[in-house]
Amino acid sequence: MAGERIAYVRAPGINALRTFDPPLGALEGETVRSVSRRGKHLLVQASGELALLMHLMSAGRLQLYDKPAGARDRTSRLLLGLEDGRELRLREFGSKQAAWVKLLRTDALERDDALAALGVEAWPDPGDAGRLGELLDAPRPLHSLLRDQHVIAGIGRSWVDEILWHARLSPYKRGSDLEPEELERLREAIVSTLGGAVEHYQQTVAVPIPDKLPMPLLVHRHEGEPCPRCSTKLEAVHFEDYVIAYCPACQTEGRVLKDRRLSRLLR
Ligand SMILES: [Zn+2]
Repeated sequence: MAGERIAYVRAPGINALRTFDPPLGALEGETVRSVSRRGKHLLVQASGELALLMHLMSAGRLQLYDKPAGARDRTSRLLLGLEDGRELRLREFGSKQAAWVKLLRTDALERDDALAALGVEAWPDPGDAGRLGELLDAPRPLHSLLRDQHVIAGIGRSWVDEILWHARLSPYKRGSDLEPEELERLREAIVSTLGGAVEHYQQTVAVPIPDKLPMPLLVHRHEGEPCPRCSTKLEAVHFEDYVIAYCPACQTEGRVLKDRRLSRLLR
């Protein structure tokens, strides 16, 4: 995409666009400079000192197609047409419309709330174990700390389960209680889990990225199944909008954590 001229930009249907100045039309005729990632955000930088900042949220996809979307396309939130006929689409599936886009001037980009508050990038290098220890030095459970984009950027609900399983750490262990040797394991698990996922997608996914994209998960969404490492049954803690999955033998010294949903059902 880099080097390609932008022929048109549209935000059809319910508007995902969160900014109005500069207008979307300002991108037309400009050239794509780069496409990159910042934490869980995607960034298309263009000539004319313009940048499109996007967050796909949980059900969005950024897909590059050979030709424009048809009139019946109802999933597109943003269409960016290139002069060579290809079209980059931000599409969203499911009932919630949460994905968003901002068109910003490059000099305002770093000051934007979404990026200014981001913590250290989790991948490819979150820093050494000492640095990670400083970042995570808070009396909060690892499951919440690692997903806090202000602390460390780029880890979501699925990958945090995988990372903690790889590191053999309890999701409820407090960041400030981590021993140096545990920080080493955690650092290694963050880098290898996220790196492994990137490699997996690079090898298995072709453009356009398909609507359905299975995640290469070993633990998350696998509660009730045997642990791939030790065969103990994987357990889960259910919350209103997410689930923590873990192995009691590998991560919590054999303890099964209290599952609020289960205890509510049994009451
Ligand atoms: Zn296990």
